[in-house]
Amino acid sequence: MALHPLKLPTSASLLCRIVGLQKQLLKALSDPGLAPQTVNAAWVQGVWCRLDAEWVRKFCLGGQEARIQAIAGATPTARKGLYDEFRRQNNVPALLRTGGDFRDLNGLPDIDADLAATVTEFFKDCYALLGQAGRTKGYTFPGGRAITKWGYKERFRDANPTMVVCPYCDGDLGTAELDHYYCKSHFPLLACSPWNLVPICKSCNDTTIAKGDRIALSPGPPRSSVDWLHPFGCPASDGVRIQLSGNPRQSVPQLHSFDANEQRRLDNHHWLLDRLDQPNPSRYLSNRWTNAASAHFDVLVGRVNRRASAANTIQSLVQIQLEDHQAERGRTASAIVHAAVCQAILDQRPEYLEEFGNSNLPELSQ
Ligand SMILES: [Zn+2]
Repeated sequence: MALHPLKLPTSASLLCRIVGLQKQLLKALSDPGLAPQTVNAAWVQGVWCRLDAEWVRKFCLGGQEARIQAIAGATPTARKGLYDEFRRQNNVPALLRTGGDFRDLNGLPDIDADLAATVTEFFKDCYALLGQAGRTKGYTFPGGRAITKWGYKERFRDANPTMVVCPYCDGDLGTAELDHYYCKSHFPLLACSPWNLVPICKSCNDTTIAKGDRIALSPGPPRSSVDWLHPFGCPASDGVRIQLSGNPRQSVPQLHSFDANEQRRLDNHHWLLDRLDQPNPSRYLSNRWTNAASAHFDVLVGRVNRRASAANTIQSLVQIQLEDHQAERGRTASAIVHAAVCQAILDQRPEYLEEFGNSNLPELSQ
């Protein structure tokens, strides 16, 4: 789900190392000859022998040791299934290429609701430890390289220097928050995956009126990603536009693509952020776009009226503005909405043209 493509920062490799640690642990836990009673913090230190022992000790606090022990106490089938599914899900590019089939934990063999909850808590805590205020103050690797949530967001900005636009809503990114594209409560195995962490605006991350923990996957099984945008794997194409219907003050925005498959993904994106599955949908994204379009229309009318002359028709001035907004797409907040307002004028929609009616300006050329 993203209107704008994103580039992974180089420090994504450090998140991959966290995923590597998790894989190493799950592999050790999947050993059919494992004696569960031997699993404790010292055992974890043995598995992660290259990490600082004190760091590992702190990692095991906060209930992590008990969660690892609970996994160790599961059947060999459950432990192997967990390890296999972890590896499968964390190969995100390949998974997206083949349509997803994201499995819920308690759909895996021998994993009941209790064990699924324990595994979920384990991975959620792994992610929480990325916070600099957590008990490990982020992750530190051999050689001194370290990563925290805050640092990762900063590196994202470095990798995407023009990134001030929220990839979900096209609005101002502000102080970015990291969204789990596939929420960690349902897909905990991806809690630390760089392919699943997206810097978005605070408004889009709102759990009560925006995306929050809602899942950008088709109901399953299989839970397919085919009909959904993905910030890295399947962003919207350059051909995607917003179309406005209604009057310029209360326009109804709709994402549009000439490609029917992409249109389905766009509709799902809009549906997700507007929360149309709710009895009282917030229509949060639509309302923000309606307001942005209305505000921009006023600005545009003033700007065009000031500059219009016999040599500079309304049409030519709006056309220039449209091209500017198209060029700024993904670089300036609300460029897609602003372009939509220009297009509505160029389409000679009467509700839009009447605002220019009182001036002694040339008519739009037909
Ligand atoms: Zn947003």
